Amino acid sequence: CHTTVKSDFLQREDDITPTHGISETIVGVLGGGQLGRMLCQAASQMSIKVNILDPMENCPASFISHRHMVGSYNDSTKVEEFAKSCGILTVEIEHVDANTLEKLEKQGVDCQPKASTIRIIQDKFLQKVHFSRNNIPLPKFMQINDHENAKSAGQEFGYPLMIKSRRLAYDGRGNAVAKTEKELTSAINALGGFAHGLYVEQWAPFVKELAVIVARGRDNYILCYPAVETIHRQDDMLMENICHIVKAPANESWKILKLATDIASRAVASLEGAGVFAVELFLTEDGQILLNEVAPRPHNSGHHTIEACYTSQYEQHLRAIIGLPLGDPSMKVPAAMMYNILGEDEGEAGFILANHIIKRALCSPGATIHWYDKPDMRKQRKMGHITVVGPSMGVVETRVKSFLKEESSEET
Ligand code: ATP
Ligand code: MG
Ligand code: MG
Repeated sequence: CHTTVKSDFLQREDDITPTHGISETIVGVLGGGQLGRMLCQAASQMSIKVNILDPMENCPASFISHRHMVGSYNDSTKVEEFAKSCGILTVEIEHVDANTLEKLEKQGVDCQPKASTIRIIQDKFLQKVHFSRNNIPLPKFMQINDHENAKSAGQEFGYPLMIKSRRLAYDGRGNAVAKTEKELTSAINALGGFAHGLYVEQWAPFVKELAVIVARGRDNYILCYPAVETIHRQDDMLMENICHIVKAPANESWKILKLATDIASRAVASLEGAGVFAVELFLTEDGQILLNEVAPRPHNSGHHTIEACYTSQYEQHLRAIIGLPLGDPSMKVPAAMMYNILGEDEGEAGFILANHIIKRALCSPGATIHWYDKPDMRKQRKMGHITVVGPSMGVVETRVKSFLKEESSEET
């Protein structure tokens, strides 16, 4: 029951009621998408108040946050005003105004993770420079400012060549692959040319993509969730590469899992501030682990932790930034699989298709449905997810297959 009042906040009447929860600190989240929404859900369990700043009045987190300020996380005036309403500032998206966060930090505002971390992460080229300086294994990379640079990068790294936008990338938008030198121009043009900053990465010949969620407390204590396998869905028309399925735990040897976890925790240790971080990794045929990128926040590869781990990544993020003891990240079930419900069509047709899957999943044992309540259905948009837990990965896979099939055959 929101009632609009003078300020930009959609304010609740009980705003000044004293809290009796685990923490009195109001957590401010820049962004109110599905990650913000799931942070609010975890917070409500512990009676922690979460305010959000998001430009969309009906964004996924708006209906369950404590207060919602309507405004952009890139508008410095808004971010400064928003910061006044919170005890701690955090993010659910890295594409926020890092200059303002730095300014606020100097004024004593508690930003977790630190503005320096957001600044490094939000520019993928700076991120790569940072991690290579910290001896984290990565695909080779190089900044490109013109076509000549791009050609020499191609000669040095070979093809296919991955061209990436430095900023504002998500779901693979911002990446383009040139399979040959001839394709360089079209790939660069598809990313809008050099104006907004591009760099290239050597193609990582991966056999699997892994991810490790790393939690870091205010005391710099680090805990890692079990490594997972992430499977992406490629859409060449939309130039997207979206995380679609997550399998937990990843089916790899102890040695590979340890290597992945070591690299992930070293990467996070090189950054400043508390919270959960998602470390995306490539596993190559010869058993090497290369870092792809880090997200300084809860992540799609950790959705399953809600049902599959003792402490979800969302609760963990809150514990970490507030300074509560970190919770147990281990799995409480033998196996889990997360399936992202992506828009298959625009508008009503897309909702109907998603509903078919949801209806079948509702009858599937071990399945939990999350619907993000996004106002518009768009192709390839993340609309919700389903996590299935079970006694083994084989059983979990059968359950997922059964709700994805048109004619659902019940498990026997
Ligand atoms: P996210 O939604 O994870 O933030 P993003 O837009 O930042 O995605 P990346 O993580 O850079 O994009 O890349 C998306 C996917 O493209 C990766 O998960 C991987 O499948 C593929 N990819 C990225 N970089 C490389 C590379 N150097 N070599 C081969 N494949 C790559
Ligand atoms: Mg990214
Ligand atoms: Mg990524």
